[in-house]
Amino acid sequence: KTFAQCGFDSALLTAIIRAGYKEPTAIQAQAMPAALSGRDILGIAKTGSGKTATFVLPLMVHIMDQPELEKGAGPIGVIAAPTRELAEQIHKESRKFAKPYNLRICAAFGGLSKYEQFKDLKGGSEVAVCTPGRLIDLLKMKACTMQRATYLVLDEADRMFDMGFEGQVRSLISQIRPDRQTLMFSATMPGRMERLARDALTSPLRISV
Ligand code: AMP
Repeated sequence: KTFAQCGFDSALLTAIIRAGYKEPTAIQAQAMPAALSGRDILGIAKTGSGKTATFVLPLMVHIMDQPELEKGAGPIGVIAAPTRELAEQIHKESRKFAKPYNLRICAAFGGLSKYEQFKDLKGGSEVAVCTPGRLIDLLKMKACTMQRATYLVLDEADRMFDMGFEGQVRSLISQIRPDRQTLMFSATMPGRMERLARDALTSPLRISV
């Protein structure tokens, strides 16, 4: 499917063109239609495959489909990544697609002021791009609740486990309602990733690129 055939509105299609995307990459073509229909995704893919847009574009549609945007009720979309560098890249990429809708994307990862992040979450950012430890800290500080979160992305899940964040990843998942949509991406699928997929996803579409 092309981006237009995915059913994105003209505002998002313009942002996609501005980002320099012409044709969807393999993972985008395969996973976006299913993600747009609300399905869980298990993507076995590396950086460079275009996986960021695969989860960010359907997230924008997911948010714009909400009947009303209540203020200050916590993020609707939560994107977790292993490192600050990756989280920064995702933050940058997602801002391009959030801009046409004026959606607020909070950067909840290290290297930036925790106080600013606290204020962004408290103020009602619709999306939090995080490293799990920092978001958990902010939740403990009561920056927001996860009541409104209905779309969870676990990016580079294998690296999050390699870095010793399994406990934090599982804690974050347990704080987000079970009827959420979940998209998990991993470069490799050893047993512990299969277990995470089994625990976090519901009948996912499995895509390997
Ligand atoms: P990612 O794998 O998500 O980190 O994306 C790798 C790079 O490819 C990023 O610089 C994206 O902006 C770019 N990219 C993603 N999707 C497309 C596309 N469909 N066409 C052209 N560039 C893309």
